[in-house]
Amino acid sequence: LFLAFEGGEGAGKTTQARLAAIWLRDQGFDVVSTNEPGATKVGMRLRAILLDRESAGLSARAETMLYAADRADHVANVIRPALERGAIVVTDRYIDSSLAYQGYGRQLPVEEIAKVNEWATANLVPDLTILLDIPPEAGFDRFAYPADRMESEPRDFHDRVRRGFRTLAAAEPDRYLVVDASRSQTDISREIQDRIRQILPD
Ligand code: C5P
Ligand code: MG
Repeated sequence: LFLAFEGGEGAGKTTQARLAAIWLRDQGFDVVSTNEPGATKVGMRLRAILLDRESAGLSARAETMLYAADRADHVANVIRPALERGAIVVTDRYIDSSLAYQGYGRQLPVEEIAKVNEWATANLVPDLTILLDIPPEAGFDRFAYPADRMESEPRDFHDRVRRGFRTLAAAEPDRYLVVDASRSQTDISREIQDRIRQILPD
């Protein structure tokens, strides 16, 4: 079973992915918690390049390819091996982040980014994607961020990213859970658990 958490900055992806993993482990499942970008050794180097302010001016297509390279390594070395041994994989970000940030945010063709990522992942699609939806200003308010390269993007960029995520989810309602992430941590995790419960193996 492959579960992905998606959403903008400060939506609570990391927190909710961690809570879901703990909840699943408590039920005796073998769970692998992971995240993008930067889950592998090479991925950490790609993450450093991607988020460094020194990378200002990185072209949108190059950025897309670096995220896809990180993801390809993540799938090949972490996600697929875990799924093959029967583990549940919980990832903080996956393909939808590229479609939302580089596609809707940077306004590259979404369909083309989807193709690149299908190839990078050899067509590995999550069983369920949990979208933590929150207005960008509310997300940013949650943290005193040491601003990285992305967080200094203009407000309308993050608005497009949010709309992008919602558009992706609306196109495949059975494979997504869209959660109002402005509520309490407990309410959110309860809603997520209710949905995951429906697809758990016995
Ligand atoms: O989730 P996390 O905060 O670790 O993500 C790192 C950064 O990478 C975020 O600032 C996010 O905006 C950015 N990102 C991106 N495009 C992606 C994935 C993440 O710009 N495809
Ligand atoms: Mg996070």
